[in-house]
Parts: sequence; structure tokens; C-alpha cells
Amino acid sequence: RSKDAGGGVFHSYEPQLHVAAEERRILEIALRSALQNDELHLNFQPVVDTAAGSLTGFEALLRWTHPDFGPVSPSKFIPLAEDARLIAPIGEWVLRRACAEAAHWDESIRIAVNVSSEQLHNPAFVSVVAQALGQSGLRPERLELEVTESVFLREGTGAVRVLEQILELGCRLSLDDFGTGYSSLGYLSRTRFSTIKIDRSFVQAAANGGREATAIIRAVVALADSLGMTTTAEGVETEDEHRVVGALGCGKAQGFYFGRPLPLNEARTLATNSKGGNSAAA
Ligand code: C2E
Ligand code: MG
Ligand code: MG
Ligand code: MG
Repeated sequence: RSKDAGGGVFHSYEPQLHVAAEERRILEIALRSALQNDELHLNFQPVVDTAAGSLTGFEALLRWTHPDFGPVSPSKFIPLAEDARLIAPIGEWVLRRACAEAAHWDESIRIAVNVSSEQLHNPAFVSVVAQALGQSGLRPERLELEVTESVFLREGTGAVRVLEQILELGCRLSLDDFGTGYSSLGYLSRTRFSTIKIDRSFVQAAANGGREATAIIRAVVALADSLGMTTTAEGVETEDEHRVVGALGCGKAQGFYFGRPLPLNEARTLATNSKGGNSAAA
């Protein structure tokens, strides 16, 4: 406990701040042993072709269930893992598990894996990706790494070079949560992304008749088109939102309307029945 200051000035701190700091400290300690204790697992959320409605891939989403605290949200523990320098081992585990699983799926089904900026600032990450592919036998074209714009904020640390080497391996890159960060168009010309993922906030606003959001989605789709990229609408929850993002030209969509993040066995069932004929797992 941080009571050692003996009262005094620290008593004026807002109580929530203490709770948050204390919670963070406890979660961080628990997260250190989560991997060894087998508390992590992956869920897989379907990604569909907006026009055809057919399955094109899954996004791997990390889940942590602590034996006492229960499920902890990724929006809570991922930032914690990044701060505590735990994201490298955890991210490596995610990548290996995701590739190993996707190797069982039909050849037409892709797997998308989220990668933190922290991971991309380590040149050794390229060999982690190469190993995950090599050990699973997954074709590199089937692996898509999702990065956010924050990766470009720290200059001169080699992250762009790491992204280039990932492209040289034959993997795809997508730009996640587009529109929520700094959205400099310079990133799009410097790095060859296959897909721009349009954040859920724009999808919701556009479906609610928001003119700005509609104009922004339209512009991003046009930009992606002219740069040879595709777009994925994130967080599509309703039929109405599906219709709107389809009409605006988003090639792919993802969200609760099409499917929640699924446990491994349910994802495998969908991924091995999509186009008839299971591919031989490597
Ligand atoms: P993200 O990559 O943008 O993933 C999409 C998030 O939106 C997921 O939250 C997903 O469950 C949620 N989502 C999907 N469809 C809908 C919808 O229709 N409505 C709503 N309200 N939400 C929807 P989740 O799983 O809680 O993950 C949150 C974030 O944590 C992810 O955002 C990603 O940034 C990060 N994350 C998850 N797994 C990993 C991982 O393995 N590695 C890293 N570095 N980050 C991860
Ligand atoms: Mg993502
Ligand atoms: Mg996203
Ligand atoms: Mg998001």
C-alpha cells in the first residue's frame, strides 16, 4: 500500500486514482504469470465480404481469464502489458497460436493478428513472424498483421523497416482503428497496407445519418481504392449499419451483426466449411 507517506498531502488525492493505481499494480503482477498459468486464450471474430456476405477471415482477439478476478478486458490488460514490457512474450504467443490454428482452416480464410507498436520497435520481431509461419506451415499471404498509427509516432526506431521486412515475408498489413488517431496520409504512402480498417465510431455515426462521418468513410474508401487497398468497416452491429457501409463501398465488414468473437472450435467449424473441402493442415 502507498500509505507510507504517513498521510499528509497525499490524502487530498482523489480516491479513484488510488484504486486505479492499486488495481493496475495487482493486475500487472497477475499478468506476469498469466502465460505460464495457461490463463490466456484466443477468440476469433469473423470478417466478411460486405457484398457477398461470405467469410473471408478471422481476427484473433486475446482473452485473459484470471482464476479469481474472472475475465479481464483487453482494453485494460493490453496497455498494461505494453507498459510492463510483457507484450513481446504475450504477442509472440498470440502469433504462434493464431498461425497454428489458421493452418487447419481452408486456404481461402485469412487470419488477422493485432500487433502493438512496442513489438514493431524490436527488429527481432521479424524472425518471430517468420518462425510462427515456418512452424505452422501457414502461407504468409494468409497472415495479416494489424497495426495502429501509433507505430509511426516514434521516429527513427526502425519500425518502418520492420514493417517492410514483414511485407517481404509475404504477409499483409492493415491499418487498424483508422480515423481515431493521427491519420496522417503520409503513413499510407510510406508503407504498403492492404487494408484500412475504419473505426466503429464512424460506422455508427454514418448509420445515424451523420454527414461528416459519411463523407469521411466515402473519402477513405476512395483513397483506399486509388491506392490499391481495401477497406474493412469495424464494429457493424445492425442490419442498417451493414447496408450503409455496403453502400459507401467498404469491401469488408466485421462486427457483432456478422458474428461475435468465437471460441476456437466454433471458428474452426466455420473456417473449414466455407468453400467445401478441408485444406490439409500443415
Ligand atoms: P481492435 O483490434 O480494434 O479489435 C476490435 C474490438 O472491437 C474487439 O474488442 C472486438 O471484440 C470489438 N468488437 C467487434 N465487433 C464489435 C461490435 O460490433 N461492437 C462493439 N461494440 N465491439 C465490437 P476486444 O476484443 O475487447 O479488443 C480490444 C482491443 O484490444 C483490440 O481492438 C486490440 O487493439 C486489442 N487487442 C486484442 N487482442 C490483442 C492482441 O492479441 N494483441 C494486441 N497487441 N492487441 C490486442
Ligand atoms: Mg484489430
Ligand atoms: Mg480495430
Ligand atoms: Mg477498434
